[in-house]
Amino acid sequence: MKTQQSYAKNQLGTLYLVPTPIGNLDDMTFRAVQTLKDVDLIACEDTRMTQKLLNHFEIDTTKVSYHEHNVHAQTNELIRELLDGKNIAQVSDAGMPSISDPGVELVAAAVAQNIPVVPLPGANAALTALIASGLAPQPFTFYGFLSRKKSELNEELNHLKDKTETLMFYESPHRLVRFLKELVNVFGEERKIVLARELTKRYEEFVRGTAKEVLDWADKTELRGEFVVLVAGNEEVEEENYWENWTVLEHIEYKMTYEKLSSKEAIKLVAKERGVPKREVYAEYHQK
Ligand code: SAM
Repeated sequence: MKTQQSYAKNQLGTLYLVPTPIGNLDDMTFRAVQTLKDVDLIACEDTRMTQKLLNHFEIDTTKVSYHEHNVHAQTNELIRELLDGKNIAQVSDAGMPSISDPGVELVAAAVAQNIPVVPLPGANAALTALIASGLAPQPFTFYGFLSRKKSELNEELNHLKDKTETLMFYESPHRLVRFLKELVNVFGEERKIVLARELTKRYEEFVRGTAKEVLDWADKTELRGEFVVLVAGNEEVEEENYWENWTVLEHIEYKMTYEKLSSKEAIKLVAKERGVPKREVYAEYHQK
């Protein structure tokens, strides 16, 4: 076990995880700007991309690149700097580092070395989409990008189709129609879905409807920009052992009230779901 007091005095440097805007530069927080000014080094997914942000906020901190192709070597190098007492901010091109972006290896390596890791709150495409989607905001599963291979995509969707929580995906515009087709195929035409496009930008748009309606829309629209796809949980699946904390009587009453069953039908089903003899359930019901 380990504990981290983020702001205790320390000989080591601190790794700050700094979210950056997903479109609208005004979404950069005061604290994020100040942190990028104060640190010794900014580890960027793409230094040219981050330079635009730094120019806008007049930040002249030294940058190094930290992206999927140099993760291993750069993680070691950045950890050396942190052990040396340097403070480092890690940013990705947009939104939260580590969320479908580079970062996790650096965080894990810092944690392993007891280097404080301090996250800043800020922009994130999935959560921004979720709160305006109109779908259940919790529970949810954030999935990020699904596989680009058709057979793996189909397998992943089959694995997810009975989930009862809201599902959130990232998808590029040129793969969106293919993704929606597979979604209709596996989840059915009636599943409620929401597309959130170009969040925080001028052409921000939400498309809400059934999977089939949204696929038809996407099929006849020139798709541009960035998309979050949100999918309502499967409402037809009853959670396994939903009755676990109920008495037999509560279980029977639930069946009679919400599934409109007679007491006889309810007793039969309750016995089946609980895996106990019908006469036991019957006896309990008639003792009440
Ligand atoms: N780290 C980012 C975050 O915290 O949201 C996500 C980075 S991931 C490489 C990029 C994907 O996020 C895009 O393909 C798109 O699915 C989604 N995305 C990013 N910005 C968006 C925006 N402004 N509107 C809608 N989706 C966006």
